[in-house]
Amino acid sequence: MNSEMEKDILKVLVTEEELKTRIAELGEALYKRYEGHRPLFLGVLKGSFIFMADLMRASQLMCDVEFIAVSSYQNGTVSSGRVQITHDLQQDITGREIVIVEDILDSGNTLAFLKSYLMAKGAKSISIVTLLDKPSRREKAVEADLSGFVVPDEFVVGYGLDYAQLYRNLPYIGVLKPAVYENT
Ligand code: 5GP
Ligand code: MG
Ligand code: MG
Repeated sequence: MNSEMEKDILKVLVTEEELKTRIAELGEALYKRYEGHRPLFLGVLKGSFIFMADLMRASQLMCDVEFIAVSSYQNGTVSSGRVQITHDLQQDITGREIVIVEDILDSGNTLAFLKSYLMAKGAKSISIVTLLDKPSRREKAVEADLSGFVVPDEFVVGYGLDYAQLYRNLPYIGVLKPAVYENT
């Protein structure tokens, strides 16, 4: 723990080894569900990009990959629950079996929006795989079909997740030191 990033980490919540083991299990579960099909893995940018890379390899499926980027309208520090697409699908998804790949399921606003958006675009089915789940913060009745780890109500970074666009390249999931927020 001595890199420039690591000195800002208060504690490690999920180690690199735990991530690897759990993602192998998630990949196997996806293989069982979609073997013989050709699902479209849809990553929610930017937070899911590292998870996507590991999950789709772990699944060993014949699959396509696509990304979408969304942002929640912010009103101060409170998410209004309204979601806007900032980078849209680049292909027709009519009749496709979609696997949404998300970094963290928090209020549920993003995934509730995406599910109805994808259904309206003609998706045949949608399943949600989230690396992390913070059930204590849920506002919308949306649940993941597969989830890696349940985390407490703390702001986490690493393995794709950022604070102010930094720390995405930490190889584990950690909690930042409060001083990092207080200095910005
Ligand atoms: P939701 O729409 O479910 O409230 O939240 C979705 C997005 O908020 C996540 O995809 C993620 O980008 C961001 N988010 C929520 N909680 C955290 C957290 O603890 N750490 C980080 N880095 N992002 C979070
Ligand atoms: Mg996300
Ligand atoms: Mg972020």
